[in-house]
Amino acid sequence: MKIHFLGTAAAEGFPNAFCRCDYCNKARALGGKNIRTRSSAIIDDVIKFDYSPDSYMQALRDNIDYSLIEHMLVTHTHSDHFNASDLECRREGIAHNLHHPMHIYGNDAVMYHTRKSIGRFEGARYAFHLLRPFETFEVGDARVTPLLADHDRMETCYLYAVEKNGKRLLYGHDSGWFPDATWAWLKDKNMDCAILDCTHGFTGKARDRNHMCVETVLEAQREFRKHNILQQDGKIVVTHFSHNSKLLHGEFEEIFNPAGIIPAYDGLILYI
Ligand SMILES: [Zn+2]
Ligand SMILES: [Zn+2]
Ligand SMILES: [Zn+2]
Repeated sequence: MKIHFLGTAAAEGFPNAFCRCDYCNKARALGGKNIRTRSSAIIDDVIKFDYSPDSYMQALRDNIDYSLIEHMLVTHTHSDHFNASDLECRREGIAHNLHHPMHIYGNDAVMYHTRKSIGRFEGARYAFHLLRPFETFEVGDARVTPLLADHDRMETCYLYAVEKNGKRLLYGHDSGWFPDATWAWLKDKNMDCAILDCTHGFTGKARDRNHMCVETVLEAQREFRKHNILQQDGKIVVTHFSHNSKLLHGEFEEIFNPAGIIPAYDGLILYI
């Protein structure tokens, strides 16, 4: 399974274009892996997680053909994750020589925004699917299960477990410490890779709510080991970093590399 990270920042981007804090200024000066756009990832070029407001730019930057996307798994409708109106660019008359619909999956709020923006075009180019937590479904040759996140108490935010060609991936953000039902589902799943939220830097909270921090990620790693959630050689990748973490890419590497955890950056491609 090929995992391509398109964006690795929290909602405001890193640097935040409006911000003059030391960390945004340092990120601008250093450039490279310190420049992060809003979060999204794509697997095997055909399954995309979320559609951030930076998706168009990310396709140009990494030379990705979005016409290949067959399935879009949306975690929640915060503005950094789902920009439904931009998907109109795939409709008939605007995008040519496409031969399959793009399936869009998500919660009620995702369906509401999707139908409001492009509902009138449903048919040859789009198909919409309302998901229920923990109800597994098939997308092409993959099996997908939406799991519950702890992120926004006014929205049923999802994480996704994806099994494809014998490999298992957890797309685990946005979320704080997972709800009990999600931990119970993950037990003994022996995932090959887990992508986790590390919005915050050091907060001192081992089980942070809404988003994870450094300590919560390390605590989650211990929980993964205790309950065989990850394979022995399984990878943990952290993403969705905020400038308010007060940490640059090199510092995230210094913190996480000794624990065998990989800090993502825009454009990173991993194979599991
Ligand atoms: Zn987010
Ligand atoms: Zn800043
Ligand atoms: Zn969010």
